[in-house]
Amino acid sequence: MLRGKTAVVTGSTSGIGLGIAHALAAQGSNIVLNGFGDASEIEDIRAEMAGEHNVGVAYSDADIGDGEAIADMMAFARKEFGSVDILVNNAGIQHVAPIEEFPAEKWQAILAINLVGAFHTTRYCIPDMKSKGWGRIINIASAHALVASPYKSAYVAAKHGLLGLTKTVALEVAEHGITANAICPGYVLTPLVQKQIPDQAKARGISEDAVVHDVLLAAQPTKRFVGVPEVAALAAFLASDEAGSITGAALPVDGGWTAH
Ligand code: NAD
Repeated sequence: MLRGKTAVVTGSTSGIGLGIAHALAAQGSNIVLNGFGDASEIEDIRAEMAGEHNVGVAYSDADIGDGEAIADMMAFARKEFGSVDILVNNAGIQHVAPIEEFPAEKWQAILAINLVGAFHTTRYCIPDMKSKGWGRIINIASAHALVASPYKSAYVAAKHGLLGLTKTVALEVAEHGITANAICPGYVLTPLVQKQIPDQAKARGISEDAVVHDVLLAAQPTKRFVGVPEVAALAAFLASDEAGSITGAALPVDGGWTAH
């Protein structure tokens, strides 16, 4: 149980992050939600999560591509709940294009949100974790932290970098009761994947249906999308005391993709 602990989950207004926030709240953790979206829908999510699990739930609209906004979010979390015990670096964006056509500003944004943001959140939460002698850092990387696919140069670079950050932090904090791990999901049918289907179709010159069956699901021997609850359950386990000896690990939840 995580009662009395506080988790910051970046990018938790949608998809995998929202599923992880629910799973941690179900274990009793207070939650700081973060991400973009319709203000009244986010308030509904916040209030429902707090009521369903009887935990504190706050919301920060910090842009994870902005280091100063991250500093404000971590200060807000500490003010609301006292400290940050569990950090889930989940916010992420994608853009699909051949390298010679890849817009430079998209490259910068993907690196800033998917990688540099995790550096800032991590450095701001380590002092609290060290002083408590307990902490959990869970980075939502990707199968693309382990293998590459064409037309995803920025995303693959950022996710490989996030795994490198995970391993380095794990070594630095190992004697302080703090673990750092990377979950590496395969394809999960969230808005992030739905949005890339037309772009993949364009880049590859094939239909959207062919993208789903011949590109996305072709990578996964199970031939089905990974479910959000399958990723969220692993995050909840990594946050538990029983996972205290799992650190510096890359944990695939990819239907067998990286077994190839
Ligand atoms: P999603 O688009 O459903 O959710 C992304 C979340 O991040 C949203 O809450 C969004 O508001 C938030 N976000 C985006 N930009 C942000 C910013 N600048 N600052 C703060 N929040 C921001 O996507 P998802 O599929 O749930 O992806 C979540 C994470 O999982 C990402 O890091 C993604 O790379 C990773 N992932 C996804 C898949 C997949 O197949 N969906 C596979 C492997 C890894």
